[in-house]
Amino acid sequence: MGIIQSIKNSVRQRSIHVCYVNVGSCNGCDIEILACLSPRYDIEQYGIYVHNNPREADILLVTGAMCEQWEDKLADIWNKIPEPKAAITIGNCPVSGCTFNRRGSYIDPPVSKHIPIAASIPGCPPRPTEIISTILELAPKVFKDYEERQG
Ligand code: SF4
Repeated sequence: MGIIQSIKNSVRQRSIHVCYVNVGSCNGCDIEILACLSPRYDIEQYGIYVHNNPREADILLVTGAMCEQWEDKLADIWNKIPEPKAAITIGNCPVSGCTFNRRGSYIDPPVSKHIPIAASIPGCPPRPTEIISTILELAPKVFKDYEERQG
């Protein structure tokens, strides 16, 4: 492995930038993401930083049941994130529509039909610890040796 690649691996391990988007949720899952920022869970101690600029993000967290208004917008946000990147769905809504999936609902789950999803965290809502551990498990698989794997 080259020295540049090993520096990139080392930096990326401690600097994972996350942004999130709500494509039609009840806010329950969004509150769990916000709880990750609280002193109790303190997501930054793991080198995970949350902000809302997709151009600076590595990982996109998606909550919600995929309202039709979000179909183009979600793809736009995903396309703005530079490679290497990954998307994680939070909760049952992005997979099945959960409580919103009933006759007459204007939703179109799963979110994986609209952008590639690397991992899904089930729950209504999932716990902050599950969100943090999934990000930490997924990040090395996506970022480690990325340039070398591209050839
Ligand atoms: S999974 Fe549950 S808590 Fe999360 S957005 Fe859907 S209904 Fe709300």
